[in-house]
Amino acid sequence: MKVLVTGGAGFIGNTFVRHLLRLGCDVVNIDALTYAAAPEALASAEPRRNYTFIHADICDGAALAAALARHRPDAIAHLAAESHVDRSIAGPADFIRTNIAGTASLLEVAHAYWAGLRGERRDRFRFLHVSTDEVFGSLGPCDPPFVETTPYAPRSPYAASKAAADHLVRAWGTTHGLPVLISNGCNTYGSWQFPEKLIPLMLTRALAGAPLPVYGDGCQVRTWLHAEDHAAALAKILERGKAGEAYVTGTRDECRNIDLVTQLCALLDARIPDGAPHARLVAHVADRPGHDRRYAVDPSRIEQSLGWKPKWRLGDGLAATVDWYLAHRSWWQARIAKTLLPLPAELRAAE
Ligand code: NAD
Repeated sequence: MKVLVTGGAGFIGNTFVRHLLRLGCDVVNIDALTYAAAPEALASAEPRRNYTFIHADICDGAALAAALARHRPDAIAHLAAESHVDRSIAGPADFIRTNIAGTASLLEVAHAYWAGLRGERRDRFRFLHVSTDEVFGSLGPCDPPFVETTPYAPRSPYAASKAAADHLVRAWGTTHGLPVLISNGCNTYGSWQFPEKLIPLMLTRALAGAPLPVYGDGCQVRTWLHAEDHAAALAKILERGKAGEAYVTGTRDECRNIDLVTQLCALLDARIPDGAPHARLVAHVADRPGHDRRYAVDPSRIEQSLGWKPKWRLGDGLAATVDWYLAHRSWWQARIAKTLLPLPAELRAAE
C-alpha cells in the first residue's frame, strides 16, 4: 500500500509515517515544515527507497495534484494542521487557512485523482481526515463520553476549524462519493511533540526550574492517548475502516490536568532528586478563555469493528515520555529559544 501523508513531519505525523514504514507501506510525506514540524524524527527514514518527502503547502493545489499524479497513492491520510488551541485564540487566521482552506484544496485534488482511478484501485482508495474529539465541545461531569453520533459543538477557533474540515470531508463523501474516513482522536502525547503542548511544556519548564503554568483550578479533565497507539489506530482505520464512517479514538482513563502535572513532577523527582519536589513550581494562572471543562471518549466502535486497542498505559507512557525529553534536550532547547508563545502576564512578572 502506498500512502500519501500530509503533515507527516509533525508530532503524530512522524510517528504515523514511521509506523507505516514498519508495516512495509510506501509513504509520500507532504509537509510545509512549520514551526511545529520535527523532521529530525524521520532522519532514519530518509535514505529509504519507500519514503519520499515533498516540501509543500496543502493550500497549493498544483503541488498536491503533481504529487498525486507522480506517486499514485492508494490512500491519503490528512494530518497537516495548525494544532495548538492557544495559538488559535491569539491568531486564528492560520487555522482557517490551513485547517479549512487547506483541507478543501486537498479534497479537490483528491477527488479529481480518485475520479480518474479505475477498478480495484478506485474501490480500494481511502481519504482519511485525522480530526480531534474537541469538535464535540465540552462535557459536564456526569455526561456520557463522546461517541461518533455526538453532535458537533466546537468552542475554540482550533476546534471550529477542525469541525469545518470534518464537514467538508463528509460533504465530499456524500456529494462526490469520495471514500472518506474520519478519526476523532483524543489528546495525544509522546516523543517529538513541540514544547508548547501541555506535557512537554511542563517537562521542559520544570527542567529549567521555571514556574509550571496550570490554567485555572487545573480540574479540566482529558483522556490521553500515546502517539504510537494513535498511529496504530490510524493505520487500522485506513486498512479496514468502512468508507463514510468516523471513529472516535482514545483511552477511557480520565485525568485532571493538575493530576497529570503532579504525576509528571513525581516522575521528574525520581529521576532528578536535586530538583525535588518539582510540584513546588506549579503556578495557577488565569484560565484559558472558553476552556473546555471535560473531554471523554468511548472508543467502542474502533475497538469492536477494527480490533484496535491501545497498548500504552498512561503511567508507563508518561515515564517513557519523561525519559525521552531528558535524553533530547538539545532538540527541545533549540525550539524553546525560538518559537514559544508568550507566557501569561503573571508568570512573566515572576520570572
Ligand atoms: P503538529 O502541529 O505537531 O504537526 C502539524 C504538521 O502539519 C507539522 O509538521 C506542520 O509543518 C504541518 N503543516 C502545518 N500547516 C501546513 C500546511 N499548510 N501545509 C502542509 N503542512 C502543514 O500536529 P499534531 O499534534 O501532530 O496533529 C496532527 C493532526 O492530528 C492534526 O490534524 C490535529 O488536529 C490532529 N490531532 C491532534 C491531537 C493532539 O493531541 N496532538 C489529538 C487529536 C487530533
